Amino acid sequence: MAKLCLLLRLWLAGVLLGLCASAPAAADDQVAVSYAPDCHAVTDRDRSATAMQPRAQWTCNAGNWRSDVPVVWLRFEAESWKGEEMPRHFFTRIARFKSITFHALDADGGRRTARLTEADGNPLAAGPVFRLPLPEITAETTVLLARIEEPHSVPMLTEARITHDSAKADWSQADMMLLAFVMGMLVLPFLFDISFYVVLRERFVVLHAAMVASMMVYVMTAGGLASAFVALPVAVMAVLAPLSYALAAGLTGLFLADFLERGAQSRLMRRLTVATAWFTMIAPGFFALQLDRTQPVDDRGYFLTFLPFIFVVSAAVLEAVWRGSRSARYLAVAWTPIIIASIERLMRGLGWHVGPSSLDQMIYIAVGIEVVVISLAIADRFLALRRERDAALTEARMLEQISTRDSLTGLMNRRAIEARFDELLAQGFNTFALVDLDRFKAINDLHGHQVGDAALIACASAIRASGDRDAIAVRLGGEEFVVLLRGERTLERAEALRQAVPIRIAKEVPGLDLPVTASMGVVVMADAARKTMAFAEFYARADALMYEAKASGRNRMAYERLTVFTAAPAARNPEREQAA
Ligand code: GH3
Ligand code: MG
Ligand code: MG
Repeated sequence: MAKLCLLLRLWLAGVLLGLCASAPAAADDQVAVSYAPDCHAVTDRDRSATAMQPRAQWTCNAGNWRSDVPVVWLRFEAESWKGEEMPRHFFTRIARFKSITFHALDADGGRRTARLTEADGNPLAAGPVFRLPLPEITAETTVLLARIEEPHSVPMLTEARITHDSAKADWSQADMMLLAFVMGMLVLPFLFDISFYVVLRERFVVLHAAMVASMMVYVMTAGGLASAFVALPVAVMAVLAPLSYALAAGLTGLFLADFLERGAQSRLMRRLTVATAWFTMIAPGFFALQLDRTQPVDDRGYFLTFLPFIFVVSAAVLEAVWRGSRSARYLAVAWTPIIIASIERLMRGLGWHVGPSSLDQMIYIAVGIEVVVISLAIADRFLALRRERDAALTEARMLEQISTRDSLTGLMNRRAIEARFDELLAQGFNTFALVDLDRFKAINDLHGHQVGDAALIACASAIRASGDRDAIAVRLGGEEFVVLLRGERTLERAEALRQAVPIRIAKEVPGLDLPVTASMGVVVMADAARKTMAFAEFYARADALMYEAKASGRNRMAYERLTVFTAAPAARNPEREQAA
């Protein structure tokens, strides 16, 4: 309970931290105007800004965006900001690129040019966005061209804007609060995983924790929240976001293969899941690096190499649900939103459909849902595994009971007493009283085995000395028992138990013509001589005394007190007393 409270408090702290980080950045949200490019064009590396003047080569509707080309041009017409303040900033979605060159072209032929690189980019504290300063735009400026060399993503082109007010680039406070909230949602499962793992050393718990950690990095970098805490370069933010997403996906696959109950997956599906998981960490993980050499293919490469993962994971969950897996039902609920959001994101990333960047929120919400639902699934499994473990423990205890108890009388059996003998000796049980029923074979012969059994049970009750913590009764086998005693007057107490046997049997087994008596051989190890002596040694000495008791007429006890330790099993010269 205390642990749960601590977890909740930490979780709240996480949510608050996120909110604090997002609040100042989004506070001055007075909307200033920002402008999208009016037209765009694709060229090779050598085309000059002057050569881009003719309008015919530009595409001036929304479609046809490509990032797998050497150069993309964006064209902003002065008509857009006529009568408003002059734009001073360029901002867009974070991705890698080689350089962005701005050309502010004036009506009278004047032009100002600025060439900026990734390193000049300034990631904003609110949103996955970076900003660059524009060259001066004057009242004479008719058009602003942005020449983007080696862009690595389509959203970086479609979401490019210019504005006079840099605050316009920030995401709204609501957007950032949502991100902070999702981060808070991720913190709790992460802490849960850690506490689960302390109790339950299952690999899937570690995989889930790693997956949640990757998701955290994703939300921090893809959502831009990281910039509220550390100033990371554009290149780092650009790589960390898709890389952590690919890692999270791969870990999700490994988690799936490990987490599903045995039998919930066919061997083929399990292998396919694991292989696809590794493939997803390696292939999209590689394209996420956005190396210069892969620029023509990495945008498409990243999204296309994700497809096998979506198919295989969906198929694996469906198969497991079909096979009746309880865990898979949780996973189906957890992953449906994220798969839908991922497909939308994938299509937007490939430029197949253009949508507002606020659609990204879907993926963050889906990530939060996924992680929380999977945590529930883990908690559910945790309880199931604990139930299993408890049942196994109970069974083990039962088996142990069975193996240490005599089934007829319920007394300890020989095995148990031999195992504990040294320990009991050390605890002061220095008296070994061997009890054997007299002429017991005759009882069986005359009255049958069942009556014999009843007599054995009655004998056990007599020597059990219930309530006496200083006497332990054991059935060695057949009609032979041992009582171990410690404390005062052990000899007298043993003799009293022996004398109780015929009375008890007579009481509990009616119809016997003669009393069933017992003979006893007792070995007492005096304090002075107390050293370790093996069970077998005690037994041999007591047996020899028993033989003497039987030989001298039965229904009596013979004993010896060992004051000097001798190794010989036979009682050669014992002090002896015979009781009639
Ligand atoms: P003594 O006075 O010399 O000890 O004679 P005895 O007949 O008791 O000795 P013996 O060892 O010859 O016989 C022991 C008998 O105990 C043999 C067997 O029929 C009986 N017995 C051993 N175990 C059980 C059991 O679990 N149930 C029953 N009913 N009888 C048992
Ligand atoms: Mg006997
Ligand atoms: Mg016997």
